[in-house]
Amino acid sequence: MIHGLLSRRHFLRRLGVAVGATLGTSPLAELAAVAAPTPVHVVIAGAGLAGLCAALELERRGHTCTILEAETRHVGGRARTLRFEGGLYGEAGAMRVPKSHTLTRHYVAELGLTLRPFVQSNPDAFMFMRGRRERVRDVTRLGAAYGLAAAEQGKSPEDLWAASFVKRLQGLSNEERQDFLAVEPRTEAVRALDRLSVRRVLEAESVSAEAIEFLSVGLGVDTLLDDAATEAMREESQAVWSQSFDEIVGGTDRLPAAMAAQLRDKPRMGCEVVRLEQDPLRGKAAAVYREAGRLRRAEGDFLLCTLPFPVLARVEVEPGFSGAKRRAIRPRERPGIPATTRRRATPRCRRRRAFSSPRTAGGRRRGAGRRCRSASGASRRSVTSLACILSWSAPAS
Ligand SMILES: Cc1cc2nc3c(=O)[nH]c(=O)nc-3n(C[C@H](O)[C@H](O)[C@H](O)COP(=O)(O)OP(=O)(O)OC[C@H]3O[C@@H](n4cnc5c(N)ncnc54)[C@H](O)[C@@H]3O)c2cc1C
Repeated sequence: MIHGLLSRRHFLRRLGVAVGATLGTSPLAELAAVAAPTPVHVVIAGAGLAGLCAALELERRGHTCTILEAETRHVGGRARTLRFEGGLYGEAGAMRVPKSHTLTRHYVAELGLTLRPFVQSNPDAFMFMRGRRERVRDVTRLGAAYGLAAAEQGKSPEDLWAASFVKRLQGLSNEERQDFLAVEPRTEAVRALDRLSVRRVLEAESVSAEAIEFLSVGLGVDTLLDDAATEAMREESQAVWSQSFDEIVGGTDRLPAAMAAQLRDKPRMGCEVVRLEQDPLRGKAAAVYREAGRLRRAEGDFLLCTLPFPVLARVEVEPGFSGAKRRAIRPRERPGIPATTRRRATPRCRRRRAFSSPRTAGGRRRGAGRRCRSASGASRRSVTSLACILSWSAPAS
């Protein structure tokens, strides 16, 4: 959020939102209590769910928006459904709605979309690791392909995760667990965790390098190993992965499409933001964007930037971000990531099948699979709900 020298806090105040510690836990309730403020014009960079949702709520409160979206046809960003002939579709981006995602569920209901249970578990699915194949229910056998320490042998990825990462969480008090929801952690335990990656926590819990690879490929967390431990702890604490999920009938992209349909000012497509500017003297903010090869400028009282960090890292910002912000935005180097890769595949078949992404017994399978379904989801023409997660773990050299 940029505007003159102003911050997100100022923006929320100006809109009349009380900036308190509870913001983020029930933001819609807080918004509902806001008195009508003076209308402002907001430039929004990006028409993903964040940009669309912000525009929707701003317009409902009498403000106006200019939404600049780089893509020429797709709104929704990472909520992206691939559509095939015969009404078939597969999810290339978001596909599961966890129980704890109350905001998503609010908009799904409000915009007249339907949820149905997401097929998350299938003990008969196959897992391939280091050239071996086993049913998910027999995943423990795949541990033989890894040089596990004696105490780690015979354990499933789930067991190894529970005995290390979850154990660390269980050692925290209720107050410390609540701290995962705070913008700035207050307790020393969570502050310490906030400086660690998932990998570092596993290492601190004496999980061997081979076991870290086995559990991370088995649970589909291999791409998250270098992410903040607190994020994974927060999800673990909220039981995100052990509760059931739902999905939007007809495809996830129905949500951003429904949001965009409600907007008075539709997203301007094919407008790639290349520069963000603030003019503190005039109290204005602007985005310079490229449209059909020409540079243009959109100015507002505020600018709301919803661009993903890898994009933002390449966007000019004037005046520049602070050093701390630059470091947070800069793409991370990830040395030492094991030779694992993950891909989604979208198998198509004639019948809808009751099997889906492989997961382990406790319900955790964080990797995402692309799902292929018919729009109705249940007819004879519908196809598989099979989501394949192809995890490949290189043999030890
Ligand atoms: C493979 C995958 C699976 C996922 N699965 C789930 C799931 O099951 N459940 C779940 O809750 N979440 C899931 N997520 C996460 C979820 O999709 C994202 O958290 C969410 O969609 C992010 O929305 P956003 O608006 O913040 O960002 P984005 O969706 O990234 O939106 C940013 C927008 O900015 C646009 N843009 C980029 N550069 C520019 C530019 N220079 N100028 C103008 N516009 C630009 C983009 O085109 C995009 O439309 C998944 C994500 C991925 C990638």
